[in-house]
Formats: sequence, C-alpha cells, structure tokens
Amino acid sequence: LHAKTAPLADADLLVKRDQSRLIHPHLPGDTTDRIVMVEGSGCRLRDAHGREYLDATGGLMLAHVGHGRRELIEAAAGQMAKLEYYSSFHEFSNEPSIRLADRLIGLAPPPMERVYFTSGGAEAVDAALRMARLYHHRRGERDRTWVLARSLGYHGVSYGGAAATGMPMFHQGFGPMLPHVRHLTPPMPFHPEMYGGEDPTEFCLRELRETIEDIGAENIAVMIGEPILGVAGVVEPPGDYWPRVRELLASHGILLILDEVITAYGRTGHWFAAERLGVTPDFIVTAKGLTSGYFPMGALLVAGQVVDVVTRDEGFVGGYTYSGHATGCAVALENLAILERENLLAAATRVGDRLGERLRRLEELPVVGQVRQTGLMIGVELAQDPATGEPLPADRVPPLVRERAGVIVRNNPNTVLISPPLVMSDDEADRVADAVTEVLTEFA
Ligand code: PLP
Repeated sequence: LHAKTAPLADADLLVKRDQSRLIHPHLPGDTTDRIVMVEGSGCRLRDAHGREYLDATGGLMLAHVGHGRRELIEAAAGQMAKLEYYSSFHEFSNEPSIRLADRLIGLAPPPMERVYFTSGGAEAVDAALRMARLYHHRRGERDRTWVLARSLGYHGVSYGGAAATGMPMFHQGFGPMLPHVRHLTPPMPFHPEMYGGEDPTEFCLRELRETIEDIGAENIAVMIGEPILGVAGVVEPPGDYWPRVRELLASHGILLILDEVITAYGRTGHWFAAERLGVTPDFIVTAKGLTSGYFPMGALLVAGQVVDVVTRDEGFVGGYTYSGHATGCAVALENLAILERENLLAAATRVGDRLGERLRRLEELPVVGQVRQTGLMIGVELAQDPATGEPLPADRVPPLVRERAGVIVRNNPNTVLISPPLVMSDDEADRVADAVTEVLTEFA
C-alpha cells in the first residue's frame, strides 16, 4: 500500500486549482495539503499523484459495498437510458421510487409505513422535523413546536439539522438558529463525570422528565437522536436507554425521530439500529449507506399514525426537486440487493468484531481511554492528558496513519473514527489495526 503508480500529468495543477477554486468543509483556506482521489476499487483508493490508500472510513461512513462496483454503474446507466428523472410532486411518480419504497418498508420495523425521499441526510432530518410539527398542528395541538435534541448529537448542517446538532461549532456565527430546540445530555457511560455520580441512564431520564415539565409536554413536538452516537465517537447507549426514553415520550404524546444516517443499512450488523436497540420510533432518518455513495440520496421512513395525519387535507406541503430521483432509486435498489446477496450485514459484525478485538488491546496503552465498537463503527477515544486533565487531541493520528501505512481514518476532537466499507477483508482489517496500533504505540 501507498505504492506509487503513474500520477496524472496535471496532478499538481489540480491541487493548485482546488486551492483557488473550492471551498472545502472544515478546511482553513490557506491550507495547502490536498489529496485528490481519482480511482477506487473495493476498499482501495488512488490519488492524482499515484499514491494508493486503504479506505478505513468508507468516505464519510457510507461506502458500504465498496468502491467501483460494476453492478451499480450498470444500474445507473440502465435507468438513465430509460428515464433519468421525473418529478415526484403531485400525482407524478416513477417505477424505481415505488419499488424502492416498497423494499424499504419491507426491511424496516413494522410501524414504518411510507417513505419520503430526499437528496441526503440533513434534508431528511428537516423533513422529519417539519412533519412532526405539522402532525401536532393538524391535530389541533398548535403549541407543540419544541424539539428535544442532545448535546454531541450530529444531524447535518441544514438550519433544522444544525439547530438539532448539539455541537457549538455548528451554531457559533450562524445564529439565530431555529428556535424552540433544547439539548439534553446523552448517556456516555465512559464519562461518569458528566452525571455527578448518578447512573447515566437514570440521569438522562430524570433530565428528560424535568425538561418536559419545564417546557410543558403540551409545547413539545418531538425528540431527535442518533440511536448510537456516530460523529461524537461511536457511543452505544445502555440497553434500557432508548426503550425508556420512548416510553416516557409516548406517555406525553411526544414523537421520536431516530437519526440512522450512519447506522442504517448494515453498518451495525442490522438493517436498522432500531432493531438492535429494541425501539420503535415514529420516524427513521436514513441516507449514506442507502446508495453507498453512488448517488446522493436520503430516505425518511414514517410510521403509520403520522402518515395518516401528514398526508391528509392538502397532503404534506413541501418537497425537494430530486425527491424520489429515478436513477438514485435504481442505484439504491441494486445497492440493497448487493448488501443482501453478499451477506454484508453479517460481514459487518464479523469483520467489525475482528477489528474491535485487535483495537481493544490498545486500551492497555496510557494514551488510549476506551475503544468502542458496534459492527463496523469503531471509536478509539484517547485518554486524558495526565498533565492538564484535558482529553488528548486525536487530530495528529489520521495524517500519521495515512503517511506511514496509506490507511485513511478520521477523528473528532479526541476520538479516532474507523468505519470501513462492509466489504473489507480480514487481511485489510488487520492492516488497519496494525497501522493504528503502530502510531498509537509510538504516542505512548
Ligand atoms: N445525521 C447524521 C447522524 C449524520 O452522521 C449525518 C452526516 O454525517 C447527517 C445527519 C447529515 O447528512 P448529510 O451530510 O447527508 O446531510
């Protein structure tokens, strides 16, 4: 790996043009490093300078079936040759969107009855928030506008999604945010200091009860949360957290949105993490693994009782131009067929456990706090710096792992994030573990 093949003749020029023409998310404008990807196959990538990489993040946690899949290229080309797109507004529809909606409802937990398509995760989050408010409005409970979300949760950067996101950097400088959003504490058992000695689930449930009392149940529309915190560091909650949250919300007529943008379609070893966690929400937000990134697309799954209300009268007001895109839906159908045909849900558990087992050994190192793994979502949280008491920053790890071994991993402030394509082989997983182990051992 990191072998060099022939670079593109204009590789350096591409880098210059990138610097002068593109605005990248999360990159200061004066930074000169660029990695310009040009080719991919399975878990391997090659950049414009001919360097090869092993993709241990699946892009942004989404390349479930791996790069360069012929079947998906053919599905897209075949659909484009027939009908590339047509609007899904009003009475218009197209064949792949109907087949895909039917397939998704077949895979989803029982209360999910219909699908609303979008171009990505944040659009689906916004649609869910809008439907939740509309549901109460149409039933005559017009004060139910408040949204409960959670600190450290990530829901995208549309204004609705960013308002629900519980990370201050997405709010600072962008205000005023969507009003009527309150952030609660998520359960993070590894950080007992967040709960002042109380059991994390008990703390969170008590805080939820107090918040409902404070705002007034009659003013609250919905709660949104990731079933397993993703960007915040792969944190699976205690088993009783979601069922108890769901029960408490339901007893107050408050709806629940599970944001499964990362967790759906196999990453946790299940089609949906909701099944794994034994919770049945009113909405499931999905995107990413729906098409493995071959088409930008999201799907909001909606439970029957909500469907009945938001589709009545003039129907659900508002759609996206690309909702139910025929080519995207054809790609998604083939992507789901590959996940099933190649048993990639089971592979996520098997390869994830293998990688998790190797990486958990790192907990012996003084620089490593905790290694968390659910299927092929892995977070290696660094320890606190004994000198300052502050968490060690993880941002030095991805560049080192990449330079040394050609392996791509990501990080949040203090956690290394690993989320490879579900097609990763045992051998490739071992290389990821070796690369991360080597770099962190050196830190120790
Ligand atoms: N929700 C979650 C849990 C996510 O992880 C993301 C993206 O990482 C989003 C929503 C936003 O999705 P998108 O970037 O497709 O708008």
